[in-house]
Amino acid sequence: MRKGLRLGVDLGGTLVKMALVDERGRILERVQVETVKNPRTLVKTLRLAAEKWLAFPILGTGIGVAGDVNPERGVVRFSPNLGWKNVKLADYFRRMKFPLPIRVDNDATVAAWGAYHVELAGHSNNLVVLTLGTGVGGGLVFDGRLYRGATGTAGEVGHIIVEAGGESCVCGSRGCLEAYLGGAALVRSARAAYKLKGRTVDGLDPISLEKRARAGDPVAKAVWQRASRVLGIALANLVNLLNPDTVLLTGGVSRGAPLFLPNALKIMNQRAFKTSARAVRVVVSQRPSDLGVAGAALLVE
Ligand SMILES: [Zn+2]
Repeated sequence: MRKGLRLGVDLGGTLVKMALVDERGRILERVQVETVKNPRTLVKTLRLAAEKWLAFPILGTGIGVAGDVNPERGVVRFSPNLGWKNVKLADYFRRMKFPLPIRVDNDATVAAWGAYHVELAGHSNNLVVLTLGTGVGGGLVFDGRLYRGATGTAGEVGHIIVEAGGESCVCGSRGCLEAYLGGAALVRSARAAYKLKGRTVDGLDPISLEKRARAGDPVAKAVWQRASRVLGIALANLVNLLNPDTVLLTGGVSRGAPLFLPNALKIMNQRAFKTSARAVRVVVSQRPSDLGVAGAALLVE
């Protein structure tokens, strides 16, 4: 990675994190602004926030966005969180005179790139990253390079099908991993299970579900148990297909890993090829909040 500073932008559904990052992915300074859905207003706000940094020589700007991104053209084809369709995001940054070149990629791809360079620096060469948030995203780094596929859409681990006729998924398919392990799906299925028992529970989220499961609540335990089973199947598929040395879990739901990971690993070990299963370590990120901005900045090579 060329020596010098880059700007990294992690564009999430509620918050945008922006940082000044060095060639090793170290964050020197950071700011955070609330997401606004109008891309022009958003980029203008970011430009003002970045003003003080632009006196430095900066090698370029990298941006991670949740959604379907065309990395070659810097276009966000579709982002349900932001309500965007065919937004030429790189052009907005260019017009606002952000440091060139401008690189745009999917947020999970960017998190994988950040994990590869920063958290796992030198300890992984074939890496799968799963971002466990409201939805489930994925990013792939093989032989030290990002794998993007034919259209930049590779690594949609959340939409690996784990139950042929299973739960409906936001993508339009059924039985996707995200329909069980995504934060939204966990809450939805817990709510439905409580309702069956004639109970209404307010303020459910993955963290409270985790607390309930730890306290022995049978509904919460069953929801995590089901999530762990489908994750185990997804991991077996990933391990057989890709033979990674590391699978890194990041994002809010990954904090519940002590609840779901042991069983998922047991199932992975039962169902995957022995050689591949033995070679992989599945770990939980220790610095999840930095991977997005660092990885985005390092898109500028
Ligand atoms: Zn899906």
